[in-house]
Amino acid sequence: MLKVTLGPSKEVEFADETLVQMGESILRTKKAERGFALCYSGNQILPGKEHVGGRSSISYKDCGRAPKAGSFHTHPRDGDSEPSWYDGFGSLHNGWSRSVQWITCTGSPKDMTVRCHAPRDVPDGLTVKVIGKDKRKMHGKPMSADKRFDELHQELARFRVRDLPKLVSRDILPRAGIRVEDVSFAGSKGPSKYRKYITETGEVISVEPIDQGT
Ligand SMILES: [Zn+2]
Repeated sequence: MLKVTLGPSKEVEFADETLVQMGESILRTKKAERGFALCYSGNQILPGKEHVGGRSSISYKDCGRAPKAGSFHTHPRDGDSEPSWYDGFGSLHNGWSRSVQWITCTGSPKDMTVRCHAPRDVPDGLTVKVIGKDKRKMHGKPMSADKRFDELHQELARFRVRDLPKLVSRDILPRAGIRVEDVSFAGSKGPSKYRKYITETGEVISVEPIDQGT
């Protein structure tokens, strides 16, 4: 679970399932974008069903009757997790049209990172219109290329896939394609035990000692 504050004071939580599904989508991303809606259940953010889109666009099904909090999508191939200009603009546009602080999370297998941002406040129509005028000019540029976003947006969260074991309860990790394996080594002071977190491709993303007490 990851608690964040949606500026200035709205406390929301990304549920374990949501964080794990982000990791899962990143690990599975090859040529096509993957993504899903972020749905509110009280102050919890739950994941919608995952969808596979084109290389640079994806459409999301809704959250049923639950209000939408935003969306997550991956950047395939050369893109890293940095949001594009369009991702930044999308947060403003969706936020304005739905009167919410629309959360956009992006992730990439290149840096194995998830980043989430949202407008600091519900955007107003004039701001969206003025920024929208630069749509063509900003095509293909990252969000950081437009300094206006620094003031309008806040970064809510940034974490690496390898940090997932620290963020979520262990039982849910296999769903992200992360295997949990306990190993022990014989040592002079008796065996020491470690817990390994391994992805589907066999990459060990984290190893931590298991506290055996005294
Ligand atoms: Zn994007």
